[in-house]
Amino acid sequence: MPNDSLGHADIIRRRDRAMSPSVKTFPIFPKNPMVLTRGEGQYVFDDAGKRYLDGTAQNLCISLGFAHPLTLAMTTEQLHAMQHCTTLFYHETPMLYAEELAAQMPPGSGDWVVHLVNSGAEAIDLAFTMARVHTRNFEILTLRNGYHGLQMGALGSTAFATCRPPIPPPAGFVSVHHPDQYKGVFGPGITPYLAEIDRTIAAATSGAIAGMIFEPIQGFGGVVPMPTGYLAGAAEITRRAGGLVIMDEVQTGFGRMGSHYWGFEAHGVTPDIVVLGKGMGNGLPISGVIVRRAIAETFAQTRFFNTFGANPVAVAAARSVIKAIAAEGLQANAAARGAQLEAGLRALQQRHDLIGDIRGTGLIMGFELVKDHATKAPATEAGERVQEALREAGYITVRGTPGRNVFRVNPPLCITAADIDGLLGALDTALTEAT
Ligand code: PMP
Repeated sequence: MPNDSLGHADIIRRRDRAMSPSVKTFPIFPKNPMVLTRGEGQYVFDDAGKRYLDGTAQNLCISLGFAHPLTLAMTTEQLHAMQHCTTLFYHETPMLYAEELAAQMPPGSGDWVVHLVNSGAEAIDLAFTMARVHTRNFEILTLRNGYHGLQMGALGSTAFATCRPPIPPPAGFVSVHHPDQYKGVFGPGITPYLAEIDRTIAAATSGAIAGMIFEPIQGFGGVVPMPTGYLAGAAEITRRAGGLVIMDEVQTGFGRMGSHYWGFEAHGVTPDIVVLGKGMGNGLPISGVIVRRAIAETFAQTRFFNTFGANPVAVAAARSVIKAIAAEGLQANAAARGAQLEAGLRALQQRHDLIGDIRGTGLIMGFELVKDHATKAPATEAGERVQEALREAGYITVRGTPGRNVFRVNPPLCITAADIDGLLGALDTALTEAT
């Protein structure tokens, strides 16, 4: 429960003193931070009691909504029964979840098993280790502008200098230009980007790779979708070089795309390892991989243990996510609300030169503010004004990319048509005032 006796300034000052300054290195509102006290559905409340639509879903972790009745019921029941049971013992909850999660893979796509851990980066590391052990190859190809986490192994695959401490990076990661259709180094089209994978394997690896990792839509990198045909081509090249296809569905998974349950399904590609996190537990810390049984069996030749992995309370929350997405039609809602948002943004683009590009699918949507449509120079200051005006109007959004000019709109999946209309109206006003 929030302590009402503490004032806004006190909480900020004391957190800044007590917690490591590293927690401030991903600021959403650096000049005037928010103190949040509670969440309800798609909304959060600040310490003055003001309600906001959370367009970040707390970094895409709140999939169903805050205080969702099913998450509350299932986690509370589990918390009372047994708050932790390690995988050294058998327990019904993770077993049921593994069955339910594997059943979400496309029918006939393979024989899948589930391995649960606690954070996205941990699951990414697990995927890399599994791929290396199974293939007996070492090098992992990654895409520039990709984000897969900042713990040691995952850090090697996250291609942002600002996230890299000045220490030797983990070995064995080679990055490839990403197929950005708006401002990619090779321009639009996929052929030069696929050729770049071949060239990279030939020049910067031993020729045989352990795998290649992709986000179907690069989230942190500014909502950059993989263009049609790219993932299929890249998967073929990866497999030809002996590697496994690793799909990072940490942001795109669990219906957020609207059109599909998993991002890879939009590309007609079946990966070998699928990495999950964020919205998987509707805010509780849980992550994992869905992996082909044969790969998991090779990996099981050495011992592996993770103390909190498959914690039954977190797993109960994850079960509530699968159940509620189906019961409440949340994937369909993501599709409908995403289409409404995209149409509204395109209409705004007609009237506001600031909007250079609109990207994404469903409720993983972004729009890029530029000073000039030809140079695509980032409209950083205008972006800040727009973001502040939206906050004033009760809408929290996050700006990404080094130019901080790409707005990422990733609300909880329960967002309503009225919420989207309200956001678009506030954005219209904010864009008018920002120019
Ligand atoms: N993959 C993707 C696509 C992510 O966006 C993130 C986190 N932003 C991660 C992996 C890492 O997750 P975590 O922060 O839980 O380690």
